[in-house]
Amino acid sequence: MTEPFDPRTHQASPGELAGRIIAVTGASSGLGRAVALACARYGATVVLIGRSEKKLEAVHAEIAAAGGPEAAIGVLDLERAVARDYDQLADALAGRYWRLDGLVHNAGLLGTLSPIEHYDVPTWCRVLHVNLTAAFALTQVLLPALKKSADAAVLFTASSVGRRGRAYWGAYAVAKFGLEGLSQILADELEGTSAIRVNTLNPGRARTAMRRQAYPAEDVETVPLPETLTGPYVALLGPASRGVTGRAFDAQPGLPAGAATRAASSAGSSSRE
Ligand code: NAP
Repeated sequence: MTEPFDPRTHQASPGELAGRIIAVTGASSGLGRAVALACARYGATVVLIGRSEKKLEAVHAEIAAAGGPEAAIGVLDLERAVARDYDQLADALAGRYWRLDGLVHNAGLLGTLSPIEHYDVPTWCRVLHVNLTAAFALTQVLLPALKKSADAAVLFTASSVGRRGRAYWGAYAVAKFGLEGLSQILADELEGTSAIRVNTLNPGRARTAMRRQAYPAEDVETVPLPETLTGPYVALLGPASRGVTGRAFDAQPGLPAGAATRAASSAGSSSRE
């Protein structure tokens, strides 16, 4: 019997993502920036998507300085974008590259940590919109380009609190539960009819602005840097994961690889996000 695919143990070759065009949302900072830089390092042409052109330009410059393939920038504020903005981004991408080989939904908003009883309704709507509805809208508009790829991957960024409910995580956790559902539905719809695989990846604890907001008293030195967590992203975007679809993965040890949602959730602990 062959072992189930585990993106945590895959050793990428230097040109693992060569020739691939991969879009990353929230590429301006935190995990998204680290994933974008890693994709470029492994040879991908990266489409940096974010709301701040200035921050995206800085990542673009980092990729160029490291000798990576020239990246592209797509400015899209996921809170404010309307259908026309999504269409413009998809048209620009199709005009420049014709196809898309990878789409990493990484952008996210924590909102507030609060009991459901007192959760602020406008914040609820904003978090659900940025974290879930925008990912659906962007996927939908980029599906034609993904279908033109011979081996495409869609990756949604998950969280432990979106696999097993935990007090006070409110809209953020509900949106992450929604992404697991969206991923499973899309994987089921595309399996057998396209070369697109769809999975979720929970990065686990990462030293980013969002983590600091969620755990302000935590000793940051104990939290892994985003740069140390990019291997599983590369594995799930590259040829190693071809045919692997509809699964929920974790980037850090402690959980079974590609576990079903219930199995993955049972291992959560209070400091996991
Ligand atoms: P982060 O440093 O706060 O990064 C969040 C990213 O989302 C930033 O690039 C941010 O852009 C972007 N973003 C926020 N609102 C946006 C909007 N309206 N339009 C476009 N982009 C927007 O947080 P992170 O920790 O790297 O989070 C990345 C992903 O990992 C999230 O999906 C998060 O839920 C998930 N995650 C993180 C952890 C962790 O411990 N850090 C654990 C589990 C899951 P700006 O740079 O312009 O602010």
